[in-house]
Amino acid sequence: MSKIKSKQTNDEIIKLTTKYVAQTYGRFPIVLTKGKGTQVWDRSGNKYKDFVAGLAVDNLGHCHPEIVKAIREQAGKLLHVSNLYHIEPQSLLAEELCKHSFADKFFFCNSGAEANEAAIKLARRASFDKGYKNRGEIIAMKNSFHGRTLGSMAATGQKKIHHGFAPLPSGFKHVEFNDAEAARKAVTSKTCAILVEPIQGEGGVNISDKKYLRDLKKICTENDLLLIFDEVQTGFGRTGNLFAYQTFNVKPDVIILAKALGGGVPIGAIGASNKVMKHFVPGTHAATFGGNPLSCAAALASLKVLTSQGFLDKAKDTGNYFKSCLEELKTKFPVITNVRSRGMMLAATLSKPAAPVIMDCMEKGYLINCVQQNTLRFIPPLIITKKEIDGLIKTLSQSLKKL
Ligand SMILES: *Cc1c(COP(=O)(O)O)cnc(C)c1O
Repeated sequence: MSKIKSKQTNDEIIKLTTKYVAQTYGRFPIVLTKGKGTQVWDRSGNKYKDFVAGLAVDNLGHCHPEIVKAIREQAGKLLHVSNLYHIEPQSLLAEELCKHSFADKFFFCNSGAEANEAAIKLARRASFDKGYKNRGEIIAMKNSFHGRTLGSMAATGQKKIHHGFAPLPSGFKHVEFNDAEAARKAVTSKTCAILVEPIQGEGGVNISDKKYLRDLKKICTENDLLLIFDEVQTGFGRTGNLFAYQTFNVKPDVIILAKALGGGVPIGAIGASNKVMKHFVPGTHAATFGGNPLSCAAALASLKVLTSQGFLDKAKDTGNYFKSCLEELKTKFPVITNVRSRGMMLAATLSKPAAPVIMDCMEKGYLINCVQQNTLRFIPPLIITKKEIDGLIKTLSQSLKKL
C-alpha cells in the first residue's frame, strides 16, 4: 500500500487533502515530503529554499542531526508517561530553559494557543490569590495574534479572527500596539495583566519601539499587574538573542513559548519566576501530553544547539546582512514601501498585494509567505547562509519587476 502511495503525484495528494481534510487553510499546490537543512523537496522532486521554516518552527532547519538523534533515542526508550510521575527529559529541559532565561520554573503544554491559555489562567489565578476581587481582565494589543482556541482567540486583537464565533470569552481589552499611554489609560481596578508580543508576527511583523516595552513594564509595576510576553514566534533565536525580551532588554513576568521550542515537534510552555509560578498549585492546570519525554528530548537537543558557542551571533549577523539586502531592494523597487526586521525576523511591505510575488518565488524554488495581504515575511531557519539570501534576493527582484 505504501508503495502505491509513493507513486502518487503532488496532484493526487492535493485531491485527497481537498476531499478529506477540513478546509481551514488556503494551501499552496505542492506536497512537501522531505527536508534537510534550509531545503525542502516536494513529491515530484522539486526543491525549494525554505524561508518559511514551518512558520518560525524549524529554526535549526529541517531534520537537524542532533534533533533527529534525540528523537530516535527517546522513541526507543519511552514515548509517553503521565505527569503523575517525574519525567527525566522534562526536568532537564526545564533546568536548561531556566538557565537561559529569567524564569525559575516552566509549565509545559503542546502549542502556542495552549501556552497562551496557561498564561491567561496563571495571571488570573495570581491576581485572585493575592486577594484582588474581580480582577481578571487582561489588556492585549490590536493586531496581535495569540492563537485559535477560544481564550487565545479572544486575546487576539483582530476582528477577522473573531468573526462568527460569538460569544467570545470575556475579560480582554484591546489597545493600540506601540502606544504605552493607551495601555495606561485602559488599566482599571479590574486589570490583572498586560499581554504583548515584543514583535507582532501574524499582525504584520510590527516591532516594539525602543521605549514601549519598558513603559509597559513600568505600568505593570505601578499597578501590580503581570507583564506577559508572547514569544511563541520571537523565541529561540529569531530576533538575534535566545528570547526577544533579551533583544529589547525588558524582563516580563511571564514568557509564552512554543513554535521553535521543540525543533519541529509540538510543545508549548510558559515560564515565570517562583513568585508568580507558585500560584499554579496542584489541580490548577494540566495537560496530558505536556512535557512528554519525546517532545522534551527534541526541545533539549534543539536548545543545546541554539545556545552553543557563537550560534546566535552568526544568525544575528546573517539577519543583518539579509536586512541590508532588503533595504537595497527597496531603493530599486518603489513598490516596497517599508522594510523592518530584528535578527532573522524580517518583513517588506508592498504597496500591492503580495500573493503574486509569493507564487512566482515558489515556482522558482523559494518559499516565502505573507502576512496582512501585502507584507512579505521572511522567517528562515537561522542556519540560512548569505549565499542563499543572495539567491532569494535575485529571485525577488525578478518577481517584483513583473508586479
Ligand atoms: C503561532 C502563534 C501562536 C499560536 O501558536 P499555535 O501553536 O498555532 O497554537 C500564538 N502566539 C503567537 C505570537 C504566534 O505567532
